[in-house]
Amino acid sequence: MSPLPAEFDLIRRHFRPLAGPGSLDLTDDAAVFAPPPGRELVVAADAMVEGLHYLPDQSPELVARKLLRVNLSDLAAMGAQPFGYLLTLSVPRTTPDRWFAQFAAGLAQDQREYGLHLLGGDTTGATGIACLSLTIIGHVAPGTAVRRSGAKPGDGIWVTGTIGDGVLGLAAARGEIADPDGYLVGRYRLPTPRLALRISGLASAAMDVSDGLLQELGHITRASGVTAQIDVDAAPLSAQARQAGPQWRDTCLAGGDDYELVLAVPADREASLLAAAGRAGVPVTRIGWFEAGPPDVWLHDAAGRLVSIQHTGWSHF
Ligand code: ADP
Ligand code: MG
Repeated sequence: MSPLPAEFDLIRRHFRPLAGPGSLDLTDDAAVFAPPPGRELVVAADAMVEGLHYLPDQSPELVARKLLRVNLSDLAAMGAQPFGYLLTLSVPRTTPDRWFAQFAAGLAQDQREYGLHLLGGDTTGATGIACLSLTIIGHVAPGTAVRRSGAKPGDGIWVTGTIGDGVLGLAAARGEIADPDGYLVGRYRLPTPRLALRISGLASAAMDVSDGLLQELGHITRASGVTAQIDVDAAPLSAQARQAGPQWRDTCLAGGDDYELVLAVPADREASLLAAAGRAGVPVTRIGWFEAGPPDVWLHDAAGRLVSIQHTGWSHF
C-alpha cells in the first residue's frame, strides 16, 4: 500500500482523536449529522491571524484554546449551547509536527471543558503567515436565539465580568503597562466565553464584546433602533485595570478582546438575570439603559455630566 501523504497522516494523528459523532472519523469528504431533536442550529465562524490576533511567541495550546473560545463566545452571545466545530488551518509548510500536537492538545482540553467535538475541516500550506479559522455549530430551542435587534426603550444595559482587561492585556504583553500578577495578559491570551450564563429568555438583545464595548453598543443601537445611555463610572473594571490608572479608562471602554457579553434586559427580568448570574457564577453589572431615539451611544458620569471619548473600537479596514 502506498504511504499516506503527510497531510492526511497529520490529520489522522492529531485531529482524529478530537473527532466525535457526525465527523465520520475525518475519513470522508464531509461530516453528516442530525441536529439535536427539537433544536435549531446556530452557526458562527471566527478566524485568528498570526501577528494580528496572537503574537508569534504564543504557545500553540493557548492559540488553539483562544480560537475555540472566541467562537464559543459567539454562541454564548446568541444564547446557544455548543455542539461541534470545523477547523480550517492555513499554516506555513515548515510548521513542525510538534506545533500540531500542541495545538491539538489545547483543543482537547477546551473540548472537554465546554462539551463539544471536532466535525471536520481543511488543512493547507500557507505561503505567508498562519491563518486559523474555526466554524462553530451550536443549538437553541427554536425561535429563542438572542439577536442584536431586540433591545427596547427602558431595557437596562448590562455587562458580564469586567471590561478592558483584554485590551490592557495586549498593552501589557507589549510591555506598555505593568502587569505584576500576569492577570491582564492572561485575560488577553485566554478569554472566558460566558456560556455558563444562559441569556435566552432573559436578554432582549445581546452580543459579545470582541471589538470594544462602545462599538458593540453602537451595533445594538443600530440593529434595535434605540439610544444607549451609559454611566461610564458604573463600568466594571478589574482591580488590575484600575491599577493601570484613570488614563486607561477610555481605552477599557473602547478597546476590544474582552469576550464578555453586553445585554439588554427588560426591568421585569432583572431579578431573574441576577439569580441566573448568581447560579452561573458570572458577575453582571448594570451600566446604563436604552431609550427611544436615534441609534447613538451617549456617555455620562455618575453625576450625569456628559463624557466624550475619542477612541473608536477596533476595525480591520
Ligand atoms: P481534501 O483537502 O483532499 O479535500 P479533505 O479536506 O476532504 O481533503 O480532508 C479529509 C478529511 O480530513 C475530511 O474529513 C476533513 O473534514 C478532515 N480534515 C482536514 N483538515 C482538518 C482539520 N484541520 N481539522 C479537522 N478535520 C480536518
Ligand atoms: Mg478539503
